[in-house]
Amino acid sequence: MAAEPKGCKELVNEVIEAGLCTLCGACTGNCPYLVYHKGRIALLDNCTISDGQCYKYCPRTCTDLDAISQQVFGKPYSEEEIGAAKEILIARTTDKRVRGKAQYGGVVTTLLSLALTEGLIDGAVLTKTSDDKTANPVLARSEKEIFQCAGSNYMACPVLGPYNQIPRDDSSKLGIVGTPCQVLAMTKMKNTPPINRANIRNVKLVIGLFCTWALSPDKFHRFLKEKLDLSKVKKFDIPPPPANRFDVYSTPDKISFPLDEIRQFTMPTCAYCLDMTSEFADVSVGSVEGIEGWDTVVIRTDIGAELVKTAKDKKKLETDKLPLENLAHLKEAALLKKKRALKEIANRSGDEKNLLYVGLSPNSAKKLLA
Ligand SMILES: Cc1cc2nc3c(=O)[nH]c(=O)nc-3n(C[C@H](O)[C@H](O)[C@H](O)COP(=O)(O)OP(=O)(O)OC[C@H]3O[C@@H](n4cnc5c(N)ncnc54)[C@H](O)[C@@H]3O)c2cc1C
Repeated sequence: MAAEPKGCKELVNEVIEAGLCTLCGACTGNCPYLVYHKGRIALLDNCTISDGQCYKYCPRTCTDLDAISQQVFGKPYSEEEIGAAKEILIARTTDKRVRGKAQYGGVVTTLLSLALTEGLIDGAVLTKTSDDKTANPVLARSEKEIFQCAGSNYMACPVLGPYNQIPRDDSSKLGIVGTPCQVLAMTKMKNTPPINRANIRNVKLVIGLFCTWALSPDKFHRFLKEKLDLSKVKKFDIPPPPANRFDVYSTPDKISFPLDEIRQFTMPTCAYCLDMTSEFADVSVGSVEGIEGWDTVVIRTDIGAELVKTAKDKKKLETDKLPLENLAHLKEAALLKKKRALKEIANRSGDEKNLLYVGLSPNSAKKLLA
């Protein structure tokens, strides 16, 4: 039976006011009622559309994981801990300049630049850290602009807003880099193409980031501003366990905060997220425990495989095997995130049926929780 259509009213009730909004930006940019304002999605006026694209693409509304998996991989949802993967390896850029600015291995920046020069994309929707250290979505159209976005800003950013603003008749081929919730929203758009927006088929490359949680842009930014001179901050980092710290590289020193002090600023919605590795991306990228300056790279689609192969052939990336121990840890961490999220969802609703809102059948959920 087809799900009952829902719109802005339900999005506000079930997601935004329920504290489940991820700030992915999928409901903004093309809508006159919903706007991103100071770290939250604000409703400017009541919308009466009963079948809203805002509700449809939200990563926290009911998601048919099998349907979107068919769309990306041509097969039902993989219940593997880290989703569907063709190959998993470690890599780093060969470009010293990128190495100097990137978060870890610079794989994301290097793949984007290569995709641009090879003509796979004409631009990419990315996140840029501004001088005041806020995270802002941008449409980067040159290698220089891609380079300016290198590095991780751990604050949630409504990256899909600028995508929604691209004029309908713009046929530029696009890439997008996002966290798992952003990638999920983008995949829902691919599965049910939006109307009155640029053709979703123009999105040619989706690079996903690993993510355990993101920080509230409003509260965390205020905290940082009280503690630091933000004009001197160069980089944020969350070193892998057992470090348990949030590092801020400032001049002249590095300042570390215990992770427990930072956790109060995580987005509450991250507790309900099942995906640590951006399972619907073409390529997913995250750190490598114990191997500094490299990225773990999960190649998921033919497009991802082709791009990484070209990067290797053109000596833009050097690659190596992911040690088996690292793979085991990665799977363990991803599974832990799923189990924690399912418990939170069950606690919240007290009704197993509501587990369906993340697209898992009650049987799959039970299997994961076992
Ligand atoms: C909120 C968040 C949480 C993360 N959590 C983990 C984790 O738990 N474990 C792990 O292994 N890795 C995590 N990462 C990924 C990691 O920090 C690196 O982004 C990844 O390893 C790629 O490194 P790189 O050197 O190849 O990227 P770079 O070449 O430096 O490129 C980084 C890219 O990240 C994008 N970006 C920066 N900030 C944001 C943001 N706030 N939202 C969306 N995109 C952004 C930029 O557009 C840029 O293109 C997280 C990243 C973010 C943004």
